[in-house]
Amino acid sequence: MKVKFWGVRGSLPSSLSPAEWASHTEGVLRNFFASGYRDLSQISKYIQSVETPMLGGYGVATTCVEVQAGRSQIIIDGGSGIRNLSEQIMSGTTGRSKGPFHIFMTHFHWDHVIGLPFFVPNFIPGCEVHYYAVQSELPDLIRGLFRKPYFPVPFEALKAQIHFHVLAERQPVKVDGFVVTPYKLDHPDPCWGYKVEGGGKAYAHCVDTEGTRVTREDLGPDLPLYQGIDLMYFDAQYTLPELAEKANWGHSAAQVGLDIALREGIKKVLFAHHDPGARIEHVLELKRQTREYYESRLRFANEKGEKLPAVAWDFAHEGLEVSL
Ligand SMILES: [Zn+2]
Ligand SMILES: [Zn+2]
Repeated sequence: MKVKFWGVRGSLPSSLSPAEWASHTEGVLRNFFASGYRDLSQISKYIQSVETPMLGGYGVATTCVEVQAGRSQIIIDGGSGIRNLSEQIMSGTTGRSKGPFHIFMTHFHWDHVIGLPFFVPNFIPGCEVHYYAVQSELPDLIRGLFRKPYFPVPFEALKAQIHFHVLAERQPVKVDGFVVTPYKLDHPDPCWGYKVEGGGKAYAHCVDTEGTRVTREDLGPDLPLYQGIDLMYFDAQYTLPELAEKANWGHSAAQVGLDIALREGIKKVLFAHHDPGARIEHVLELKRQTREYYESRLRFANEKGEKLPAVAWDFAHEGLEVSL
């Protein structure tokens, strides 16, 4: 299974301003010389030695995730990240420009739908696009995105064959070689995470969620979303103090996801839904706090003679691709 993160920001697409990029570039150049490099021929080597976010940041685009296994593909959410995926599809390099495309919607907040009118396969004759969601209003909600004066092309003018599939809560569906099951997340408007199984692996999509239900008892029928998982994508928009301040805003902190991962033996976790105001340094600070928390959890367990499973975790950046 391969999972590619086309958009990892939350709430609103957001970039550094030109002045902030200039200041960031100055820091990168200073670091080039501070690292002992001296001439132009060493630039590529330097760039390869630095983690992508340290150079290019965590990304601009909002939630869109592509899951592939062999020739099978599903897409989760249509945030602004879906535009770059659309460009790749239309470039012809993927060999599936006519689809069928399967787009699973978690919910319909702007940051998860804003890219859909820019998903070019919607406009291509002979192309097949399937939309899936638990929310029974799915057809109206998608149609509403293509409506004047918000968008110039009405839904009726789309040339692709578009199909809507309203999913039953917590019932698996088989789609293009995957088994996909929606489980409820903790968000102010109903939001459904997805467990995606395929290629012998399992991916849990847990964005947007506040993670107010953490214990197995509280999670109840939604617990399987977190069990038997190879990679979990978890909402970590806030620090722990921010999470306390922003109760009921529907977003979580990395520590909450780590607790679940440690208990359920989730092998790998990527944190995302970065705040639109979160600059590179802010995400690095979240990472530092998460590392501190993770190490303290391991230390306490060790002192009590318990063994916690190792969790490989990081903060996701736009364009990141993970092979499981
Ligand atoms: Zn969101
Ligand atoms: Zn939301």
